[in-house]
Amino acid sequence: MASAPNATTDTADRALAVLHSVFGLPGFRGAQEKVVRHVTAGGNCLVLMPTGGGKSLCYQLPALLRKGCGIVVSPLIALMRDQVAGLTEAGVNAAVLNSTLSREEADEVERRLIAGDLDLLYVAPERLVTPRCLALLERADIALFAIDEAHCVSQWGHDFRPEYIGLSIIAERFPEVPRIALTATADELTRKEIAERLGLTDAPQFVASFDRPNIRYEIVDKNNGPAQLKAFIKERHPGDAGVVYCLSRAKVEDTAAALTEAGITAIPYHAGLEASVRSRNQDRFINEDGIVVVATVAFGMGIDKPDVRFVAHLDLPKSIEAYYQETGRAGRDGKPSTAWMAYGLSDIVQQRRMIDESTGAEAFKRVSIRKLDALVALAETAGCRRRLLLSYFGETPADEKCGNCDNCLSPPQVRDGKVIAQKLLSCAYRTGQRFGAMHLIDVLVGRATERVKQFGHDQLSVFGVGRELNEKQWRAALRQLVAMGHLAPDSEAYGALKLTESARGVLKGETPILLREQTASTGRAIRSKSRRGDLVQRPAAAGDATLLARLRAWRSEIARKRGVPAYVVLHDATIDGIASARPATLGQLRDIPGIGDKKLEHYGDELLALITAAGASGSGSPSDS
Ligand code: ADP
Ligand code: ZN
Repeated sequence: MASAPNATTDTADRALAVLHSVFGLPGFRGAQEKVVRHVTAGGNCLVLMPTGGGKSLCYQLPALLRKGCGIVVSPLIALMRDQVAGLTEAGVNAAVLNSTLSREEADEVERRLIAGDLDLLYVAPERLVTPRCLALLERADIALFAIDEAHCVSQWGHDFRPEYIGLSIIAERFPEVPRIALTATADELTRKEIAERLGLTDAPQFVASFDRPNIRYEIVDKNNGPAQLKAFIKERHPGDAGVVYCLSRAKVEDTAAALTEAGITAIPYHAGLEASVRSRNQDRFINEDGIVVVATVAFGMGIDKPDVRFVAHLDLPKSIEAYYQETGRAGRDGKPSTAWMAYGLSDIVQQRRMIDESTGAEAFKRVSIRKLDALVALAETAGCRRRLLLSYFGETPADEKCGNCDNCLSPPQVRDGKVIAQKLLSCAYRTGQRFGAMHLIDVLVGRATERVKQFGHDQLSVFGVGRELNEKQWRAALRQLVAMGHLAPDSEAYGALKLTESARGVLKGETPILLREQTASTGRAIRSKSRRGDLVQRPAAAGDATLLARLRAWRSEIARKRGVPAYVVLHDATIDGIASARPATLGQLRDIPGIGDKKLEHYGDELLALITAAGASGSGSPSDS
């Protein structure tokens, strides 16, 4: 497929032509076009794009446009396999070289490479740096080197892989071959280290915005996590693929069981499961439609399933970086998706305890606490969540409100909370700073429990001074005071809340306190807006439901027969496009994004027949909206 540079055709035109014929896409996204032009012309570069930003095309297209084979270094075996399946499906000559191949299979791939029969070859980093592989590459015609997940070379990063260090040899041995490094990790230090290690210090950096506009951010007060999660999935994402993150293995198991009992297809994934069970569960998630995986954070790295419709957190992640990476696994295909988190005071207390009890150095603990505080601030903000996230990563969005987070869609009420805060802080003070949230609230609302009486707290002046709020409201106020840093979990006595230095100013009335109102109704507000139709999250309903169901069933069947993930056959966006446009001819079908020449050739007639049959059965109306 690779063709020699042709002086008469402009790179941009050729790139668009291949984008259209091979990938079936009408145009580039964001920085893709600049990158493709630069690399096709032989330039080196570093590309920073968020997950789902479209990094793959940045090297796949130049590899097709340049002479020779593009070598892609990728650390993730499952990802290589799925990428190659997708490319092969689109008619590209692609292969992998990694430890999963037998000797004979590897020989065959090497033969094809030397024969000039490959457009793209995915190679594991530890394999690439072997003398044998380097010698092989020297005999081959190489179009470019793409180093995916390039942050893995950084010792400062969160995902250092020693085998990546050796990749500096690429620049030394193949100085004339263009190198493109790609990553979704943005910080300055990591960027610098990538450039140094991969010989890219003089190369331009293409940095895309980290915004993921199709992801809706929602953070709700946790009162009964599993029940809230069930309601969220049933009402907002029935039948959708999603990932639920929990902190512990036990909680993963319990949550998966609870969802299953509620009729949701949910499977667990954590390091304690046998390897065969783990890989079977991962394969089901990738290959089948609508599976919910309940997992510890270990899950997700290296899975580039495009149609994950939601990521839910039942426990607080450790930092905004972790939150953004995990939620970023939703909606790679650009379709509406939700990042949902239930969060409560116990989450802060639990994470603080984990930090306090960790064996790390003091400096490390301080950084961990700062990172946790930043995440808590995100959870507590009354402002736009996306704006806060992006500003954390150094971007300044033009708009004050994104219009696609819970706070923008249903702004929380913010009230003067001075008196409330004073009552709470004095209650903690008068009870000796030795009690947790539950006990403090009992005292405030005047509930004479055994424990309250045992300590004589029903005799205190603060007993019953807080009857104006209910328990839920007190809980929310308490959590916010902890988030603001006026109350802190005691590192010695688990669960106990102590006053901090800054509490003094609040008690004296010098520090203004704004509290956001209890937001338990947020979810409902967003749902009802969705029902009105202005914020429909499931565009599927816009098409023909019957046709859509048939298309999905057909896709599952093909995927099963061919042993590839369903999205490799056709993406959700493509299926939805077909269902709503109902093309009647091959030409019309070809105009749906995601239908390239090969897909048209393979599936065109079958798809048209399906559309005709669905039309004949007489159900053309959108039914479930
Ligand atoms: P990344 O590697 O940056 O996470 P991918 O390269 O996997 O992202 O692309 C994410 C999704 O976006 C894929 O489903 C891909 O088909 C889609 N995509 C990429 N570029 C375009 C484009 N120009 N137009 C439409 N869809 C695109
Ligand atoms: Zn917003």
